[in-house]
Amino acid sequence: MRTARYGRKIRMLYDKADDSRKKRYECPKCSKRSVKRVSYALWECRSCGARMAGAAYSLTSEGGETARRVLSEEKKKGE
Ligand SMILES: [Zn+2]
Repeated sequence: MRTARYGRKIRMLYDKADDSRKKRYECPKCSKRSVKRVSYALWECRSCGARMAGAAYSLTSEGGETARRVLSEEKKKGE
């Protein structure tokens, strides 16, 4: 099982990205959960037709969320 060791993390990341791609997001305009990814980094609300650019695989950048979380944890440690 040597090959699985190298493929596991990438596989997990892929699954996660694939998952968020299929999800629907809340529209910032009409607040309905009908925003779907229409093409690379482009999202469209099925309800009001609003179009917005987002991250490639989810509407909010997951990298940014993680960075914010890490920063707040670092702050706690310093107190
Ligand atoms: Zn909308």
